[in-house]
Amino acid sequence: MLDPSTIVATPAPGRACGTCTLCCKVYDVPDVQSVSGEWCRHTRAGRGCGIHETRPNHCRAFFCLWMTEGWLGPEWKPEKAKMVLAMEPGSYHLAVQVDPGQANAWKRDPYYGQLKRWAAASIEKGRHVLVHVNRNTTVILPDRDVPLGEFAPGDRLVANPRMGPAGLTADVERVRAA
Ligand code: SF4
Ligand code: SF4
Repeated sequence: MLDPSTIVATPAPGRACGTCTLCCKVYDVPDVQSVSGEWCRHTRAGRGCGIHETRPNHCRAFFCLWMTEGWLGPEWKPEKAKMVLAMEPGSYHLAVQVDPGQANAWKRDPYYGQLKRWAAASIEKGRHVLVHVNRNTTVILPDRDVPLGEFAPGDRLVANPRMGPAGLTADVERVRAA
């Protein structure tokens, strides 16, 4: 699961969170004792943060991909899509953090088809599309989706590319922390 404190981003021109607050539900935010899957107690539905002036630094620094990438259409706004997109620093995996209240949102169109296309376009560079529902992770590959279960802190994703009948794919597994 993505740690939002690792992301420092700048909104694209014209983008604003508006009534969206989904990142205040889907991630752990230890500074305010907020755990993924539950709304941060400071969230004001449809209005934003109830402690806006004093919110933790990483709440200030974090913006999802819908905020930073102006080419993503309105259907990808997290409050509509029911998922928050972010790029994992370092690995550049695409982290899709789904609202656990609508855990199958990523399987709907047009989302699933686009996630598959991104998976196919990224695999050559060793980057993957990871769907997280809280800590449960599914890897979307061009030819199949692989549920890997719940990742504990320190667990790692290991992916070994291989050629399949339809082109490049990978064997993926979760490796437990030592
Ligand atoms: S999920 Fe994105 S659009 Fe929604 S409140 Fe967070 S940063 Fe803003
Ligand atoms: S402190 Fe504010 S910005 Fe940070 S998670 Fe809670 S409601 Fe969201």
